[in-house]
Amino acid sequence: MKKLGKYSIGLGDRFGHQGSAQLKAIIAASEKGVDITPVWNKSNREHITIGTQPVDVRVEADLATGNAGFQKSYFVDADHINIDTVDRYIECSDFFTIDVASYIGEKAKEANINEFLSDIEKYTGELKIPGNKTSFKTSKSQIKQFAERYLFAAKKARDIYLKIEKGKGKGNFITEISMDEVSHPQSPVELFFILKMLAAEEIPVQTIAPRFSGRFNKGVDYVGDPLLFAKEFESDLNVIDYAVKEFGLPENLKMSIHSGSDKFAIYPYIGSIIKQSDKGIHLKTAGTTWLEEVIGLAESGGEALEFVKEIYIKSSEKIDELCAPYTDVIDIKISSLPSKQEVSQWNSARFSGSLKHIPGNSYYNPNMRQLVHVAYKLAAIQMKDYFRLLETNEQIVSKCVYENIFNRHLCRLFEIK
Ligand SMILES: [Zn+2]
Repeated sequence: MKKLGKYSIGLGDRFGHQGSAQLKAIIAASEKGVDITPVWNKSNREHITIGTQPVDVRVEADLATGNAGFQKSYFVDADHINIDTVDRYIECSDFFTIDVASYIGEKAKEANINEFLSDIEKYTGELKIPGNKTSFKTSKSQIKQFAERYLFAAKKARDIYLKIEKGKGKGNFITEISMDEVSHPQSPVELFFILKMLAAEEIPVQTIAPRFSGRFNKGVDYVGDPLLFAKEFESDLNVIDYAVKEFGLPENLKMSIHSGSDKFAIYPYIGSIIKQSDKGIHLKTAGTTWLEEVIGLAESGGEALEFVKEIYIKSSEKIDELCAPYTDVIDIKISSLPSKQEVSQWNSARFSGSLKHIPGNSYYNPNMRQLVHVAYKLAAIQMKDYFRLLETNEQIVSKCVYENIFNRHLCRLFEIK
């Protein structure tokens, strides 16, 4: 069976130019003693917005690893696919993030629900998860609610899994189940019963991506109480351990955090908890590589700076349209966005300083950062010019991409000095 390493990172690269720079960060971490498996991911939504094909990500990953002589394993993730979108990913991907969010809340057949309830009787009343100081109170009616919310989704996940298995052959791919793109977080108790459902459906899930408490807005820091997150995260890890033993799920099942990138406030907690408990992690970082491209072009000055200024100015005219697909994962305070007139006067340092995620830098503007994060469509419609600028300013841009992944993400999460 293909197995995902203990530590892995999901790398998004919307325009497919930064695979080598991203891989360079993975190699640098490995030279510091931390082995991380790179997984290139791109969601169906991003492919559609840009007009790329799933196979493009495979080509990029193969090229970047081939050029670097990278001998370790790496994967290409069909990110957030469902039964309707999976087909065109089957051949070129070997990691599948089966997204069940849209099936949550649909009710399974009464007979299925009753069967599930009779299967979990021993966990009714009190649920003691080894490692957790206190036990959870559970009741039949509460578990029934969970079944009504998630059992149909688990069954759908099986349909999708079987479709992939038919195309790729058993054991030839990694299976992730994601349910992060929903409005309500799943508690550790819910996660426990969800894992029971996935086990009953015989899905060899290797990574699971729940929705945690707090907000995980795209490209900016965590909004919420990091201590509460840490408690929940630790509980979830104990749940996974126990579920693996109780339900016979794959032994390397681990947590996948769909971070939306840049959750610096919680990285130290995640880092120390996985270190202390000797657990693995998959961290998905979203498409902030695109923001590093914009930052790199701004720093390059001249035509490149004018190009990204123009992107910002156009984005500020199309806020509603650009934000619509992302309403659950961004929070932009429109009154805090700089005006077109202001931005048109900015130099390289002022523009890149506004976008670069360095908390404490007085130029940094998380509102502008989120808006530009979702504005990649505007570069896609001028793809030829955009690619030409990326290529002529490749050195500066790839340095930004590398430094972002290595210094701001990997060093913080894995405590690399
Ligand atoms: Zn996600």
